[in-house]
Amino acid sequence: MTNTEQDRWSRVKGRLRSSVGEDVYSSWFARMDLESVHDESVHLSVPTRFLKSWIQAHYAERVLSCWQAEMPEVHRIDLSVRTAMRSAAPVKDMSVPQIDARRVERADSRPTAELRAVATAPVSASHDALGGSPLDPRLTFASFVIGRSNTLAHAAARQVAEGRRGDPVMFNPLYIHAGVGLGKTHLLQAVTWAGNSGSERKVLYLTAEKFMYGFVAALKTQTSLAFKEALRGIDVLVIDDLQFLQGKSTQAEFCHTLNALIDAGRQVVIAADRPPSDLESLDDRVRSRLAGGLVVEMGSLGEELRLGILKSRVASARAHHASFDVPEQVLEYLSRTITHNGRDLEGAVNRLLAHSKLNNQPVTLDMAEREVRDLIRPQEPKRIKIEDIQRVVARQYNVSRSDLLSSRRTANVVRPRQVAMYLAKTLTLRSLPEIGRRFGGRDHTTVLHAVRKIEALVTKDVSLSEEVESLKRQLQNES
Ligand code: ADP
Ligand code: MG
Repeated sequence: MTNTEQDRWSRVKGRLRSSVGEDVYSSWFARMDLESVHDESVHLSVPTRFLKSWIQAHYAERVLSCWQAEMPEVHRIDLSVRTAMRSAAPVKDMSVPQIDARRVERADSRPTAELRAVATAPVSASHDALGGSPLDPRLTFASFVIGRSNTLAHAAARQVAEGRRGDPVMFNPLYIHAGVGLGKTHLLQAVTWAGNSGSERKVLYLTAEKFMYGFVAALKTQTSLAFKEALRGIDVLVIDDLQFLQGKSTQAEFCHTLNALIDAGRQVVIAADRPPSDLESLDDRVRSRLAGGLVVEMGSLGEELRLGILKSRVASARAHHASFDVPEQVLEYLSRTITHNGRDLEGAVNRLLAHSKLNNQPVTLDMAEREVRDLIRPQEPKRIKIEDIQRVVARQYNVSRSDLLSSRRTANVVRPRQVAMYLAKTLTLRSLPEIGRRFGGRDHTTVLHAVRKIEALVTKDVSLSEEVESLKRQLQNES
């Protein structure tokens, strides 16, 4: 290869890098080599079949246009797999992957479909390339309490868990969303335990972070093929906390993989803290793919369900601590007062257990009240602070916060200042004198005047009333 060709190749790589970004570049192109240039065609190579098919499927055009920017006469990029085919003559057009599949078949003398070859991949491959996230032995179907808010999610999860290898997949993906501590992880791990206990199917549980890590790491250590094969040896892929999938390019790659799995008829189960439509950073196709299966929400835990969960937790604690007993009265008290989520319920039981063990005392209502006091959160509406109001108002009217607090009386600060004082009065519990103090030491009659003024204006002035509404929304959403 000539020096000119090498120089060109460096420039093409530079273009590619700036076009796809550093992340994608290092994931997919870092190990791509130039083999030769002949007239209109360029021959490139990569070390694995997986990389090759990925680049063909997702970046063929991009690679070509980067070459054309340097060498307009180039009309074809041929991509081959280095290790297997270093000296192989036939090099195929990127746009015709079928031909390529045949080549691979000959070269490896493997059965036709890649999928079939992979189904026989040793199980250990999946561990090398992609270990699952750790499972908590307590999170099974047996300990999962069914209530109104999770009946559907539970039924769907059971259905998935009971499927057999080769069964048609009923809903794919199964997407469960709920707020924190409402049982997503419990349900997903239950699916995993149940699926794997039959041993006929392979169910892999991964947090989104682990998925990303496994994915990227597998690529970097050149085991991308093993990784891909590992994925394909999986019947059910369970992904927890999808909302943590970070980084645009990583997400894009992640999503391609997800598509591949679903297209191959593998069951995918996902949990996240929000519905697919609210996963802003995912692209539209992926979101619609996620929404195209069964999307189930688990609502907040009702009191009955909370009681059930407490009982289930106490029962499992008793397996190891036979003397631990929680009177019904205490359970009812806890289920009435700890309303937020399952994690706090679990925390409460742990504390009672710890306390009764350490002090060798029976659990009483008194003791429970003391022990769990800080887990009982008052259900107060969102607290808005005067500083937040000043900040948001200043931004909206393009003045500074010190303008609002100053004694300046020009119209462009008088109105915003009045609006801010009005919002402070209506959105916080602060008194008029207190508000006056916080607005540069004004008298409470000044605040009252401002409040009355804006109250009167919003009934007549549509645009002002819209501004005020918009400010309220911003405050609700941001502070
Ligand atoms: P999430 O993943 O949604 O944040 P988890 O699954 O971690 O919530 O649940 C938090 C705690 O509440 C765990 O201890 C879990 O076992 C318990 N929990 C939540 N829902 C249930 C339920 N329906 N039955 C039994 N335990 C539950
Ligand atoms: Mg969770």
